[in-house]
Amino acid sequence: MSQLSPMMQQYHEAKAVSGDALLLFRMGDFYELFYEDAKEAARLLGITVTTRDKDKGAKAVPMAGFPHHQLDAYLAKILRCGRRAAVCDQMESPAEAKGIVRREVTRIVSAGTVIDDQLLDPQASNYLAAVAFDGQAPKGNHRPLVGLAWIEVSTGEFTATAIDERRLADELSRLEPAECLVAEGSDALLPPEASDRAAITRRPTWSFGVQMAMESLRKHFGTQSLEGFGFDSSSHADALALSAAGAILGYLYETQKASLAHVDRLKPFQADSSLQIDAATWRSLEVTHTLRDGRRDGALLGVIDRTVTGAGARLLADWLRRPLTSVDAITHRQSAVAELVENASLTSTLREELRGVYDLHRLVARATTGRASPRDLASVGRTLGALPRLKAKLAGRKSERLQRLEERIDLCGDLREQLTAALVDDCPLSPREGGFIREGYSADLDECRELMAGGKQWMAAYQAKIAAESDIPSIKVGFNKVFGYYLEVTHAHQGKVPAEFIRKQTLKNAERYITSELKEYEEKVLTAEDRAFTLEYDLFSQLREATADAGKRLLATAEALAEIDALASLAELARSRGYCRPEVVDRPVLEIVAGRHPVLDLTEPEGTFVPNGVRCAGTRDEGRGTGEERQPSSPVPSPSSLLLLTGPNMAGKSTYIRQTALITLLAQIGSFVPATKATIGVADRLFARVGASDDVSRGQSTFMVEMTETARILNTATPRSLVILDEIGRGTSTYDGLSIAWAIVEHLHDVVGCRTLFATHYHELTQLAGRLPGVGNLSVAVREHDGRVVFLHQIVEGPADKSYGIHVAQLAGVPRSVNERAAAILEELEAQKADSRQPIADSSRSAVGIQMTLFETADHPLLDEIRALDIDRLAPMDAFERLRTWRQRL
Ligand code: ADP
Repeated sequence: MSQLSPMMQQYHEAKAVSGDALLLFRMGDFYELFYEDAKEAARLLGITVTTRDKDKGAKAVPMAGFPHHQLDAYLAKILRCGRRAAVCDQMESPAEAKGIVRREVTRIVSAGTVIDDQLLDPQASNYLAAVAFDGQAPKGNHRPLVGLAWIEVSTGEFTATAIDERRLADELSRLEPAECLVAEGSDALLPPEASDRAAITRRPTWSFGVQMAMESLRKHFGTQSLEGFGFDSSSHADALALSAAGAILGYLYETQKASLAHVDRLKPFQADSSLQIDAATWRSLEVTHTLRDGRRDGALLGVIDRTVTGAGARLLADWLRRPLTSVDAITHRQSAVAELVENASLTSTLREELRGVYDLHRLVARATTGRASPRDLASVGRTLGALPRLKAKLAGRKSERLQRLEERIDLCGDLREQLTAALVDDCPLSPREGGFIREGYSADLDECRELMAGGKQWMAAYQAKIAAESDIPSIKVGFNKVFGYYLEVTHAHQGKVPAEFIRKQTLKNAERYITSELKEYEEKVLTAEDRAFTLEYDLFSQLREATADAGKRLLATAEALAEIDALASLAELARSRGYCRPEVVDRPVLEIVAGRHPVLDLTEPEGTFVPNGVRCAGTRDEGRGTGEERQPSSPVPSPSSLLLLTGPNMAGKSTYIRQTALITLLAQIGSFVPATKATIGVADRLFARVGASDDVSRGQSTFMVEMTETARILNTATPRSLVILDEIGRGTSTYDGLSIAWAIVEHLHDVVGCRTLFATHYHELTQLAGRLPGVGNLSVAVREHDGRVVFLHQIVEGPADKSYGIHVAQLAGVPRSVNERAAAILEELEAQKADSRQPIADSSRSAVGIQMTLFETADHPLLDEIRALDIDRLAPMDAFERLRTWRQRL
């Protein structure tokens, strides 16, 4: 170290506190990276590596950098690459410095800890999560728990919980944290999908220690215990939750190097108090992102989101992530939406006002962490300016929720006055730019500014005063660089020069003097700039502190504003799309009249979406025994609990069952639903499985994934759950698949008895309706017209009577000869079905030219291939190619 230049010594000190983050070291107008960081940055950021101390040859230090004003852009790139960056700033100007400029790491920026607006999506929460795995091996039948905590640093929302380890992937898939903390060595325990989106940050094991966590949390919140937040440290589960929360807090203290006063509470989270949705369901229902390309706008959230503020959009996404399960809570929210639907003019005024408010959550976070800009504070002022009108609009509302929200809006009048009086309309982004404090706010600052402007008035007044006092009318004030301001008196008036004048220069026909008054003033002018800067900065700091001090009130208000926006968004959606208010009940029923798919309803051409109803009901309430006790001959419950939906591909099966799940989801966030009438029994869990979901990238076979997911439904669904199954069993050969699907239906019907919609192309399953009392058949109406198929997209009772696969193939343009041959094969297969033991008589005309039976394996290998063939999904060219190769092999 001692051989290093003082600056490089400083660099190494900064590096020591930056961990594995890339160190951005401020040097003059640049941020520089050195050594390995420089090489990595060159790769990640596309900047050029040069060397420092070139003359040192091999010992020269690699260096790469970028101009300081591009910091945000480069930080964004670094975060996108999943890396962290430590920003080391100059803490004094070179002029102030005695020796080398003092530098300090002012913050460590990572994906989960950013709070800069430029680096955040205003509509999405940006979570930092921590997972604490249970160090104690589970005893007996206890399921292993994990502690999970998450924080949105930019708003201060901080939550902790302990959950069954098997649900970790589900929770993480809904939260989508940007960064996830885990103890060193435990990262392998994280579900593999966790690292798809989140940057995984490994932390020392001790940082997850429970004792330390409790101490640091107590210290941070200034409380004696954490019981006030609802955590009982003697419970093993809460201790795990707290250990995750403590890891987050420790990490923030280490990286933020700023006050975290806006993080003012830790909320416990009861996983059971919201509708449980697992990761696969979340993905396949496309709630927040589409399956194919991960877009937000084609997903449910994208089409229902009518919010006008970022905070409103984040809250709405949060509601979708955690739909309610209490009828009271749902009705409570619904009533507010209903009132806003009825009072359209109120809703549009509220939305209009909300368009003018800024992101208070994030502004407060920046104020309390000392990172707010003058523009941020002006935005707080402007937002506060809109509050009186908003509050007045909400006064006297019927629904309890709107009343509560009105109460929660704190006008913060004192702060508003202070901010609007102090700040100009168009504030700069950096306090260093100056000029943002309004004239008239501070007499001292006004004086400085006047002096900076040259103090022309003062000079004129002074000149007039001296002229009168000394009786020298021609006396003049002038300025030169050598001795600054002076008074000039022509030789003619030398006799009248007052004694206190100090002579400085003699010219041909005049003398120049200075006076102490003039010098005092000169001193003021010359230091005015510095003083103005300091004064303005001090005033700015005071305003920022005042804003931070009002943080709690501002955050409560911010929450109220976000909720008004989210409610108004639901009302606007309901009004514009003609949604109805569902009756939400505590029985496992589902009755939807003329329901529509919320996304297709919007994306299909107006008026083309065909509405469909659904009626089903769970066959038992909790604790009413198992399937074995059920009398097979008991009267058929009406309506059915399990609806089997058959029909050709592209008929609208999957649309129908998904729309049912989405309508339930919407109802449970308190929204109106796309239907003309609906009664929806609150579901405790929602499962959606789409057969053959493409998960091969994880190295598991598609079928294995499908079965693992299905097993989970069968094991965890309750009579209160809603299960949506789409083409389950397709991942294997036909008979395997059919048998599995059959057994799944029986289990769901006999043992679980929950509401189930099962879309399938296995016509054989439709026979189950006759055997099991709670199973009903539905199909999609299809009309044949001139030998062609027309999909009516209408769901009707009863099974589909025929497979339309071949017609679909025809529609898709498969050559006529192939279709004709397929029709012949189908006929043969159906003939076999009629008598499965009977060999096909005319072997020369049989599909494959050899004897075959339905349930026995024939030995010709082509047979297996044909069985495994998914005719419905076969591309025309593929079909053709296969026929050609088969013929060659016969
Ligand atoms: P399946 O699951 O039977 O193969 P899908 O549900 O995927 O069929 O529907 C295929 C297409 O049919 C959808 O993309 C949509 O364009 C259209 N569709 C489905 N249901 C309806 C409906 N109720 N009204 C209008 N179009 C529909």
